[in-house]
Amino acid sequence: MRFADIPGHADIKRRLDEMADTGRLPHALLLEGPSGAGKFMLARAFAQYIHCENRSDGDSCGVCPACRQHATFNHIDTVFSYPVIKKSGKPTVSADYLTEFKDLMTEYPFMDTEQWVALLNAGNTQPKIYVDEGTELLRRLNFRAHQSRYKIVILWQPEKMNEDTANKMLKLIEEPHGDTLFLLVSNNPRGILPTIYSRTQRIAVSRYDDSEIVDYLCNFMAVAPEAAKAIARISSGSINEAVALINISKTRKIFLDLFIDLMRKAYQRKIGLLRQWSVDVASLGREQNLAFLDYCSRMMRENFILNMHISELNYLTPEENAFSVNFSRFINERNVLKLFEVVNNARTDIAGNANAKIVFFDLAIKTILLLKA
Ligand SMILES: [Zn+2]
Repeated sequence: MRFADIPGHADIKRRLDEMADTGRLPHALLLEGPSGAGKFMLARAFAQYIHCENRSDGDSCGVCPACRQHATFNHIDTVFSYPVIKKSGKPTVSADYLTEFKDLMTEYPFMDTEQWVALLNAGNTQPKIYVDEGTELLRRLNFRAHQSRYKIVILWQPEKMNEDTANKMLKLIEEPHGDTLFLLVSNNPRGILPTIYSRTQRIAVSRYDDSEIVDYLCNFMAVAPEAAKAIARISSGSINEAVALINISKTRKIFLDLFIDLMRKAYQRKIGLLRQWSVDVASLGREQNLAFLDYCSRMMRENFILNMHISELNYLTPEENAFSVNFSRFINERNVLKLFEVVNNARTDIAGNANAKIVFFDLAIKTILLLKA
């Protein structure tokens, strides 16, 4: 990752350049600030800049061997350390979950904590940095740097260390092994133990303003400018929040298409096509199946309300409304409760791990009958 790949933060990029160019690097540098502000990307770009063999114009070259290794998270003198889930009965270190962590850095470069918990399949368990990680780092840092002058540890969420772990880390930070640089990245610096916090040099990374988020959404995620402005206004300066909102609206679009498909094919009694429809819906997986059924309930409710001409109670997006204007006349007093019941039963079956293809095909057949009511 180059500095040029990160939106905004020109002043911080300059400060980091200067540290590296003058060789005045602290042993431990903490980048602190709100989620979705690009701190982790700054740490990655800084590490790459330090290791780059051909820096120019305040940025790494992106093409030398060191830069190429950074691009694939395989730079030999760069170690990532981050919270994970304990494996029962054996030492647990960050490297046990390196594949998942590379996925997170690739898919969510702004490092969404919720996405990390999802990738770990952690459920309600909070990921932590365990004391074994301190031992492992000590082992790895005991070797001299292989290619470059500096070994760099990028430590995500130092607030997730307990006291034992922090004490081990503290030794590493206080008694650095050769030229070692710790880059700590935290959304919650108040949660970091004071012994660690007080030994770091700190850079505050502030949230993005709306125009920076709009630029990012338009240039990196191909969002249309008007939509990008609307999303930026409600994402409180967090690109993580903005990306989550885009994912929600994408999901909603998929659900609307599936709902329209169901209703059209049920009205035309296209049994064969509805069988394929059930297979398509089932392939989305259990969580999305449940969310889709909730969406169906909501659309039926909204269409019933539309049919009753109580438009002030209606909550439909423009796309949903365009379909519902003509469709709502099919949802009436005679079938609305039965339709809800069919959807609710399907929900119970899916939640109970029934075969989703069968459940959705059954729902489709019942919908054919109820639409004629
Ligand atoms: Zn380079």
